[in-house]
Amino acid sequence: MTARIIDGKTIAAELRGRVADAAHRLARDRSLVPGLAVVLVGSNPASEVYVGSKTKATIGSGMRSFDHRLPETTSEAELLKLIGRLNADPVVHGILVQLPLPAHIDAQKILYAIDPAKDVDGFHPINAGHLWAGLPALAPCTPLGCIILAKTVYPSLAGLEAVVIGRSNIVGKPLIQLLLAENATVTVSHSKTEHLPAVCRRGDLVFAAVGRAEMVRRDWIKPDAVVIDVGINRVTGPDGKSRIVGDVAFKEVSEVAGAITPVPGGVGPMTIACLLANTVRAACALNGLPAPQFDTPVQ
Ligand code: NDP
Repeated sequence: MTARIIDGKTIAAELRGRVADAAHRLARDRSLVPGLAVVLVGSNPASEVYVGSKTKATIGSGMRSFDHRLPETTSEAELLKLIGRLNADPVVHGILVQLPLPAHIDAQKILYAIDPAKDVDGFHPINAGHLWAGLPALAPCTPLGCIILAKTVYPSLAGLEAVVIGRSNIVGKPLIQLLLAENATVTVSHSKTEHLPAVCRRGDLVFAAVGRAEMVRRDWIKPDAVVIDVGINRVTGPDGKSRIVGDVAFKEVSEVAGAITPVPGGVGPMTIACLLANTVRAACALNGLPAPQFDTPVQ
């Protein structure tokens, strides 16, 4: 058996198209152009690439992008002042502070200063708490993308056994809440979990968010399960060339899974698409408008 490949690039492009349509309607019918402010402190090359992609995708979806590139020497007080200005600015509906921040800035303090209504990364404890309580919240983008990908295989996740490997605040924990909201039966595992392969074999859905190259093997997967690989790991092959692999041993797991996301080209492209979706949601909520639904993929 060979698994169906869940093509994150195509699904993300489709989602970006729906977000662009929603942004276009808001501009046409309500004179409301969703705006995303992205703040980058310092010159981390990977962060510069991420910020560049986010800006391009935001503008490409018909939204406003406000880039704030600050020098490495920016103080915590200066950054807090900027966040305060962005919180108060009515044309800014989403604020994203690119991590990591320089060591002299307390990232937690900065993230907590963002207005929760504009917290399109979904990292503020108010949003995390709302998600936990089953209340409307801006949820983190990567787990949102995972749910949309899983729903391209099973339009309803109700009653399915979902195993999440990893319990970080940005992926594993919010994913648990989103899966519960979809009425899946959820098991969460982590570095102290015993008999992890046996735990994984329970999953109709397996989400790997660990950060360990190709850790999930063929015999961890129940035949026909759906495998969503969040991991991004750089490894050096026998030829000395470096490449990106996921947390799942893609080739061997493809022989047993029913469907699987590749790395790259699976979860990664969904993250930016979900950021744009969150920006439109935030713009609607801040203006007292009902938010468009983006959670269900077009089949
Ligand atoms: P963290 O390092 O914050 O968390 C990793 C989790 O994996 C922890 O809960 C840890 O357990 C668990 N873990 C570590 N080793 C094992 C093990 N041997 N067995 C079982 N569980 C283990 O990582 P993130 O959640 O931030 O990211 C995970 C991966 O996803 C990374 O590769 C990252 O690059 C990628 N990622 C990809 C994104 C995308 O857009 N595609 C976005 C965000 C992340 P414990 O809690 O016990 O320490």
